Amino acid sequence: MNKKLVKTAAYDVTKVRADFPILAREVHGKPLVYLDSAASAQKPRQVIEAISRAYSHEYANVHRGAYYLSETATTAYEAAREKVRRFINAARLKEVVFTKGATEAINLVAATWGRSFIKAGDEIVLTAVEHHSNIVPWQLLRDATGCVLRIAPVAVNGSIDIQEFAKVIGPKTKLVAVAHVSNVLGTVLPVREIAELAHAAGAKLLLDGCQGIVHEYVDVQDLGCDFYVFSGHKLYGPTGIGILWAREALLEAMPPYQGGGDMIDSVTFAKTTWAPPPAKFEAGTPPIVQAIGLGAAIDYLNTLDRAAVAAHESALLRYAMTSLAQVPGVRLIGTAPGKAAVQSFVMEGAHPHDLATVLDRSGVCVRAGHHCAQPLMEILGVNATTRASFALYNTMGEVDALIAALRKAQEVLL
Ligand code: PMP
Repeated sequence: MNKKLVKTAAYDVTKVRADFPILAREVHGKPLVYLDSAASAQKPRQVIEAISRAYSHEYANVHRGAYYLSETATTAYEAAREKVRRFINAARLKEVVFTKGATEAINLVAATWGRSFIKAGDEIVLTAVEHHSNIVPWQLLRDATGCVLRIAPVAVNGSIDIQEFAKVIGPKTKLVAVAHVSNVLGTVLPVREIAELAHAAGAKLLLDGCQGIVHEYVDVQDLGCDFYVFSGHKLYGPTGIGILWAREALLEAMPPYQGGGDMIDSVTFAKTTWAPPPAKFEAGTPPIVQAIGLGAAIDYLNTLDRAAVAAHESALLRYAMTSLAQVPGVRLIGTAPGKAAVQSFVMEGAHPHDLATVLDRSGVCVRAGHHCAQPLMEILGVNATTRASFALYNTMGEVDALIAALRKAQEVLL
């Protein structure tokens, strides 16, 4: 507790903000208050400069070139893979596959591992809080194979009760695919317990780490999952890059996702053999500079005290929850204990889209809508929510700005 407080005090958010050029701009003549990092985070100068440097000084296609510049680009691309490996504590470099994002990574697993190992009648367990990216690929697999999707329920406060979860896992379960952290509710799922349940049933566990990687320490070996996916752009890196981590034996057993250059061992018109992972899953020219940018984002995060960042974000969340609850007509959605710094809410009499549009006039960027989680909206009995999400650069003053803008919006809308 004390340690946490000391860490919070030591966290210099002003210094951190100075690293993010966009935060200095105004919107509609008001200082930008960016509270939509769960959708996509802003980028520090270090990432922007690394991307610019790569294009200005180190750019060529990777892996195939016999000349200095291509070797330099290849070294930087592969160095980014090693940075990711260390960041998630993967046992082996070959377990880290670059994709264009979390969505592609989940589709890759569904289309390769799923089509190879899931049969009619097999069960895949999801939860009620999943993002469409972790629902639709499994529905496509269901349509192709005749497997069955089972959905673990969410409690009213947004928690996932492990007792209830256990009830949907059974002898037919072959895969459990769940969010590490909910993008709507901020709930941190009990992923270690889920891993135990999944493995006891002989199933594999895929974690959608899009939000988890931002707010939690991720050690893929310690988490006990079999697949972990995330997108670079929520982790202060560029768009167009994501990660699929999977255990080596799984990647070895999976067929390729796409065919093309770079993923082969040898090609004849009669027969083609594959390169070993990760190349087997990286057909074509990869997102070279995006990977380098993600590596720079990880380097940047490694310069910060991540415990202090976590304490700062949870202090922001606590303050936001308390402040929002005091605004008349506001109802918080997602109040699970230990949750991450993502807060959905609804305001009586105001549609979330209208609210977000009015807040924008005050320079406050929040998300409004179903957040790519329509099944969860239906369970919660709402069409949409407004969501404020907090990142390492947000301040208590920005929470105050959100609340002031909300009160002003009430005057306009109600
Ligand atoms: N899962 C979760 C939990 C997310 O928050 C998101 C992004 N909103 C995704 C998956 C999809 O990520 P991307 O669009 O970057 O592939």
